[in-house]
Amino acid sequence: IASKLPLVKTTIFTRMGQLAQKHQAINLSQGFPNFEPDPELIALVTKAMNQGYNQYAPMAGLLALREIIAKKIEALHGQSYDPETEITVTVGATQAIFTIITAFISPMDEVILFKPAYDCYEPAIRLNGGILVGVQLKKDDCTVDWDEFRAKITPRTKMVIINTPHNPSGTILSKADMIQLQESLKDTGIIVISDEVYEHIIFDGQQHESASRYHDLAQRTFVCSSFGKTFHITGWKLGYCVAPAELMREFRKTHQFNVFSVDHAAQKAMADYLKTPQHYLDLPKFYEQKRNLFVSGLSGSRFTVRPCSGSYFQLLDYSAISEENDMEFAERLVKEHKIASIPLSGFNTEDKTQKLVRFCFAKTTETLEKATAVLRTI
Ligand code: PMP
Ligand code: GLN
Repeated sequence: IASKLPLVKTTIFTRMGQLAQKHQAINLSQGFPNFEPDPELIALVTKAMNQGYNQYAPMAGLLALREIIAKKIEALHGQSYDPETEITVTVGATQAIFTIITAFISPMDEVILFKPAYDCYEPAIRLNGGILVGVQLKKDDCTVDWDEFRAKITPRTKMVIINTPHNPSGTILSKADMIQLQESLKDTGIIVISDEVYEHIIFDGQQHESASRYHDLAQRTFVCSSFGKTFHITGWKLGYCVAPAELMREFRKTHQFNVFSVDHAAQKAMADYLKTPQHYLDLPKFYEQKRNLFVSGLSGSRFTVRPCSGSYFQLLDYSAISEENDMEFAERLVKEHKIASIPLSGFNTEDKTQKLVRFCFAKTTETLEKATAVLRTI
């Protein structure tokens, strides 16, 4: 039977997760915490259910949640979004991204994507007949060559997708990068998706450069985020996007037929939980400690640690260990050493020669210590 994605396989995250299970390996592959969220947050969901938040939520999301999201963005980035017309709650960032692409991309529209890239963008572009135009990040440090980016812009370019902090490299876009992007898009009608799901997981005192901080850029941008990453609740699939009203109006035309609305009780719980900013302001330190534990646990190992400024992922270079390609190496790591990771080639990269695997450090101290003890022996 003909489908629109005949060559697409089950995602690398599912495949490596299944392999981990089969071999009873320590699972540092798919990105999710192996610890529980704040009990207060769980109690708020039960409370919301008992209060009657059990029927459809408003199409754009619970107003109280949209209002507190607006407050958070204004406080952190100084940009105001109207909760009524410029903020929509979504089924995770994935649905926001899929819906934006579906709402705006027509056949032959070009979409510029920096590679390596998280896996959900490309299929959405293809399903809508769009043409993916890749810009490879620099090999050594995953930074952007803005001249190369500008050279890829054509009259057919409809959209650019950025992701900071970046999955899988853990690099972040700097203020200078954001200004380059803003300037490069001046006088164009190009729309931007800024995937900022790891906005609160940023290290070493650095600041998250949200696209919403840059007024001109924000006028053409959907900023997407996910409560899954911020509050250790990836299974809730709760996220949102914000954009100027004229973009959001078009987004909602698709959103209303895509999911219509999102889990009501979870939205009510989140609206209450977000009243305490400390819940997300403490996150950088929390994950910085985990990154440090993972990285220090690797000292003396034959892996080379790539710099990680944000997200809960760490790339390790294994070229001193093996000549294998990254898929072969990652599979052997699971089968022989009982540690699951994700090979870089799972991230839509054009450069298949790099010897890099990605590890998720959103894990308990015990798990991280066990994992690094094994990795040191390889
Ligand atoms: N973008 C990136 C870069 C991600 O890593 C993830 C997490 N899987 C998502 C989007 C999707 O987020 P969600 O689980 O909220 O759909
Ligand atoms: N974002 C998660 C990761 O990068 C994966 C989520 C998924 O399996 N789709 O590992």
